[in-house]
Amino acid sequence: MAAFEKLVPPAAGEKISFEGDQIRVPDHPVIPFIEGDGTGPDIWRATQPVLDAAVAKAYGGKKKIVWFEIFAGLKAIQKYGIDTVLPGDTLAAIREYAVAIKGPLTTPVGGFHYVCLECAAEQNGEGDARPAACVKCGSKWVTRRFRSLNVGLRQQLDLYACVRPVRWFEGVPCPVKEPERLDVVIFRENTEDVYSGIEFEQGTPEAKKMIRFLSEEMGKTVRPDSGVGIKPISITGTKRLVRKAIQYALDHNRESVTLVHKGNIMKFTEGAFRDWGYELAREEFRDRIVTEKELWDQYDGKKPAGRIVIKDRIADQMFQQVLLRPDEYDVVALPNLNGDYLSDACAAQVGGLGLAPGANMSDRIALFEATHGTAPKYTGKDQVNPGSVILSGTMMLEHLGWGEAAERIIRAMGKTIGQKRVTYDLERQMEGATKLKCSEFGQAVIENL
Ligand code: NAP
Repeated sequence: MAAFEKLVPPAAGEKISFEGDQIRVPDHPVIPFIEGDGTGPDIWRATQPVLDAAVAKAYGGKKKIVWFEIFAGLKAIQKYGIDTVLPGDTLAAIREYAVAIKGPLTTPVGGFHYVCLECAAEQNGEGDARPAACVKCGSKWVTRRFRSLNVGLRQQLDLYACVRPVRWFEGVPCPVKEPERLDVVIFRENTEDVYSGIEFEQGTPEAKKMIRFLSEEMGKTVRPDSGVGIKPISITGTKRLVRKAIQYALDHNRESVTLVHKGNIMKFTEGAFRDWGYELAREEFRDRIVTEKELWDQYDGKKPAGRIVIKDRIADQMFQQVLLRPDEYDVVALPNLNGDYLSDACAAQVGGLGLAPGANMSDRIALFEATHGTAPKYTGKDQVNPGSVILSGTMMLEHLGWGEAAERIIRAMGKTIGQKRVTYDLERQMEGATKLKCSEFGQAVIENL
């Protein structure tokens, strides 16, 4: 058992454990949760009762989640001190309990020294000192600028796969004519690529040294007034991601895994991602996969039963494909930056980020999360759509093997949206809809369970 500085785990409930690679979930698992900043608390207040009610309905009281609040962002600095946005306790608890769920967290954009965890505004200090209050909203919760908490969580816990299922819910307004044709699960590499944090600010001695090194040692010219970033993509990072994506596709009877990359330009990073992805597929799943080339060379384009097709697409082409031929794509695996873009673009295609769930996973740990941000202008207004976190909760229930509860929520949410009882973001786009508060939407889903 981890020794916590300030956390007191619940007296009831049991820890999730593993037998080999297999997760073992007790009937009363302890699950840590982070409410999140901005609208996070509103969303969590709407979400938790939905998850509890669905589990109670599905298993007649036999199973129950024992929630354990842990802290990051604003609530962390309130509990642990002004500059502790991601306490060691939080990381230890997620490691110890293996499955956790979180709301959105404020991330500073850069350039400024301080960030307000209530409204996400950024500002310089007063001389060398911390500002007394936020220039925008007056909050006293202005902390020193930090790297993204989400990136921090992913890197510290080595949550290498960001998993984002994207599909349409009937009735949700969206910009395309046939949104039901898109049903993909995106596996985005989470720990490397340009997100590795190896960046040198323009004009600093480090940037100058890098530019000199590139010129003198490597024979590459970079403009002297450049900032410089590094884009590492490794065999390890690529293969473990592609392995997870293929395993998921096999476990869920999916048709294909598409490796998306920009290998025509970045040959040794993006192009290598494609090559190592195919290599892994052949090395570890030879009897269960067929490559797109083999499909046409050997099988006349007809997929042999029990196999999935491994194919690849160039990233810019893929953005067209998901619009023009969405039903040809199923599980999709990408490096970090393109994965970030494609996940949001696909979510927008089926009606926006308010309804897009996500998870960050390692081999053992799974952290489920909202995919939108903190939507700070709605903080405390009980107004935003809790759908993304509720659906992340359904991913979590499926991960626990509690698919019956997850299914109930998905059906109930579909029914609630079908009844046109929705939060402001959907209501403003739906004719004749009833506008519900965040908490009311949660209650409406419970009524429909
Ligand atoms: P955002 O918080 O996602 O909000 C942008 C807009 O998206 C909102 O103003 C709202 O649009 C809409 N929106 C977001 N969540 C919604 C919800 N649940 N229901 C309905 N509409 C929703 O993006 P941002 O303003 O760029 O970022 C704010 C902060 O969140 C930043 O610090 C950012 O770094 C952080 N962030 C965190 C995460 C995360 O924790 N996973 C992800 C992204 C961003 P309307 O105003 O049009 O209604």
